[in-house]
Amino acid sequence: MNNFTFYNPVKILFGKGQISKLSKEIPAEARVMVTYGGGSIKKNGVYDQVMEALKEHTVLEFSNIEPNPHYETLMQAVEIARRQNIDFLLAVGGGSIVDGTKFIAAAIPFEGGDPWDILSKRAPVETAVPFGAVLTLPATGSEMNAGAVITRVETKEKLSFGSPHTFPKFSVLDPETTFSLPLRQISNGIVDAFTHVLEQYLTYPVNAPLQDRMAESILLTLKEEGPKAMQNPGDYDTMANFMWSATMALNGVIRVGVPTDWATHYIAHELTALHGIDHARTLAVVLPALLRYKSETKKEKLLQYGKRIWGVDAGTEDECIEATIQATIAFFESLDINTRLSDYQVGEDTIRRIVQRFQERGVKDLGERADIQVEDVQQILTMSL
Ligand code: NAP
Ligand code: FE
Repeated sequence: MNNFTFYNPVKILFGKGQISKLSKEIPAEARVMVTYGGGSIKKNGVYDQVMEALKEHTVLEFSNIEPNPHYETLMQAVEIARRQNIDFLLAVGGGSIVDGTKFIAAAIPFEGGDPWDILSKRAPVETAVPFGAVLTLPATGSEMNAGAVITRVETKEKLSFGSPHTFPKFSVLDPETTFSLPLRQISNGIVDAFTHVLEQYLTYPVNAPLQDRMAESILLTLKEEGPKAMQNPGDYDTMANFMWSATMALNGVIRVGVPTDWATHYIAHELTALHGIDHARTLAVVLPALLRYKSETKKEKLLQYGKRIWGVDAGTEDECIEATIQATIAFFESLDINTRLSDYQVGEDTIRRIVQRFQERGVKDLGERADIQVEDVQQILTMSL
């Protein structure tokens, strides 16, 4: 097992009715900006619950944050927050709202020039406005980590940042808020969370059996509860287990002591940036091709994953690996998620564009062994056509 430091200060309030506790988590004298998206929280009653809980607080709203939140929109929130002396933010929605709020929180006090530098130049975030979250979509884990992914529409860039200052102070996870989710977002959430686990698990062994088994327990739970969530999105326990699995998939617990990959996410972000394809769907396209391309260096973990998650153990090692990748593809497709680039009307032009962008940006050394170069990205994307 590798050395590690583990730090996660996010307080989780889990379960039905927990939104009513919000007022105790936010200082009484705070000037709060509630951030949200295109209105799903108004239709499902979450907005009313939040406003009721905050009726003694000074509250300002900022809405219409898009999926794959736009830097341009978030900067409007930053300007308003600065003008209005906002000193606490509350994100209400899915990963896009939580991510967007992290950026707003970091950008408000940012003094090093254009806050875009936080993303493009990795300018250090020295401080951030405190914020909390009410999560309505199990998927990203953003509610319990310090990372965020932001899109700049003008340049079609989708970049990430993270800082110890951008952990939420708390996150409310009430599974009842997910009952209104469309099937498309449920399937996206399952595949995003599943891929988060695989990016921290399908690498190479480092004698960390507890880490492996924690990762496998999340995979097995998503494999079992995911299809149930699709069939019955109003079932409390199913949604509760799905929600907690997605949080555990990316809150730092399973990543400590082991190598991590993240090449699938890195490459897939380009497909969302260029074509607006849902995040999870881009992962479902890139992941199988990447696993095939790197099957030699990932061999031991692929065999373990196949055996423990999909019961694959017959045939040669190569046959087992192929059957394992096929089982993963079949799982994604059973959730109505297509796994080929051509399914999304994306072709070789886009691959050329991504390769060019990576060359310009000097992208290199992706993956757990830092051995994926731009030429490899081209091969992986070509395999996913
Ligand atoms: P999302 O983009 O936040 O939301 C997708 C859609 O679902 C929106 O239209 C939203 O509507 C709707 N929605 C959310 N909750 C709902 C509910 N309870 N009922 C009905 N509709 C609801 O989706 P997401 O998958 O959570 O987030 C994706 C983003 O997170 C991407 O940008 C991705 O790159 C990023 N990400 C971040 C991390 C991280 O660690 N920070 C990890 C992976 C991915 P409204 O507009 O009305 O809210
Ligand atoms: Fe993700």
